[in-house]
Amino acid sequence: MVQINLPSPLERSRTLASYQNLVDPSLLETIEKLAEPLQGAGIQHINSTFVGGGVAEILQSLLPLMKSIGLNARWDVLSAQSDFFEVTKAFHNAFHGEKINFREEMITIYEETAQKNLAVIDDSADFVIIHDQQPLGLVKRKDQHRGHWIWYCHIDPVDVDPRVWNFLSRYARRCDAAIYHLDEYAKHLPHQQFILPPAIDPLSDKNREVTDTEKEKVLEELGISTDQPYILQVSRYDRLKNPFGLVHAYLELLKVFPCQLIFAGGAADDDPEGLDVYNELKELTKDHSTIRVLNLAPTSHLEINVLQRAAAIVVQNSSREGFGLTVTEAMWKEKPVVSTPVGGIRMQVIPDKTGLMAPTVQELTKALLQLLQNPALAQQLGQQAKEHVRQNFITPVYLHRWLKLMNDLRS
Ligand code: UDP
Repeated sequence: MVQINLPSPLERSRTLASYQNLVDPSLLETIEKLAEPLQGAGIQHINSTFVGGGVAEILQSLLPLMKSIGLNARWDVLSAQSDFFEVTKAFHNAFHGEKINFREEMITIYEETAQKNLAVIDDSADFVIIHDQQPLGLVKRKDQHRGHWIWYCHIDPVDVDPRVWNFLSRYARRCDAAIYHLDEYAKHLPHQQFILPPAIDPLSDKNREVTDTEKEKVLEELGISTDQPYILQVSRYDRLKNPFGLVHAYLELLKVFPCQLIFAGGAADDDPEGLDVYNELKELTKDHSTIRVLNLAPTSHLEINVLQRAAAIVVQNSSREGFGLTVTEAMWKEKPVVSTPVGGIRMQVIPDKTGLMAPTVQELTKALLQLLQNPALAQQLGQQAKEHVRQNFITPVYLHRWLKLMNDLRS
């Protein structure tokens, strides 16, 4: 495994006080109290990628903040070869109901990778947090370990293929607790279960305010003109994000309202299917000059920030979604969001209050047209969306929930 040292001095210097203008002061006081009994506690987060995807995004903000309140937090990423990520991507798809070709050799590859990474488990950690299913095999080490082991399931496991679940649950049930984003995701496991929806960091490069100069520079570098409004979807290139459905909805919209469509995405180290989906999307859209498919570097946080801020509407057309941080990010920027009613997005987009829901391509076209024709509605939804995120889905609120959870587990 590789231990991650966060690169940005700005992010490393983040403290609780940095958030004082964003949250109620009593929340910061409660956080300080809850942190007292946890001073010096060792916390090891383990996941499968440093860049790309929601978990990496969360850890980049949570880690410095945990450290700043006296917790001894570290973050390690599995070392693995491409065959392992092919297996775990298939498992990921199987969590989302896809019937995969589950073979004995997958178990061998999964277990061998776990075995090779065992030595990096921090024996002094009080809490070992396994993010998603990729590092679950490390639970083997738990029997010789003193800490609390927690499995944090960031995806929707409701329709998981029973064969895959039968295999992975053998590991999951050995943990002391599990965390899910929604109540309905909880599996039947013999330990404590917690609900902990994730959060965005309003102070990160992805979400902070940007200057007009930064905005102009980024848009120019990306070759984006705002002469016509644009609709944006930010996502890894993954079929479950259904970019193809959005293209169809957009082409209908274009018949009645001139506008552009931008896809902003990139690769994640643990997602081997991204390139295929990107190429398919490029092929599908190659004859449409008003559609852009951007392949961004993993460090393009400011670029995504600017793209979200300059968009007329942000869409998340996923067919499955564990939580949907891209939705939270857009809502924080007061953007009207149109989304499918799936997974954790349903906690965020309250129809006609903090965004619009569009379960089908036809409804998506209709919702987009409604917002483009009614800027006052778009503005109102955006403002309400930001407040909803401020109260529920920003890092200090998330940290508060973490501290409660760790104190509960210790009591
Ligand atoms: N993201 C990114 N670059 C990309 C695509 C996505 O930085 O090219 C970020 C995005 O801004 C968000 C996270 O990755 O913070 C995706 O989280 P989400 O929960 O929406 O989806 P996941 O990828 O975890 O399924």
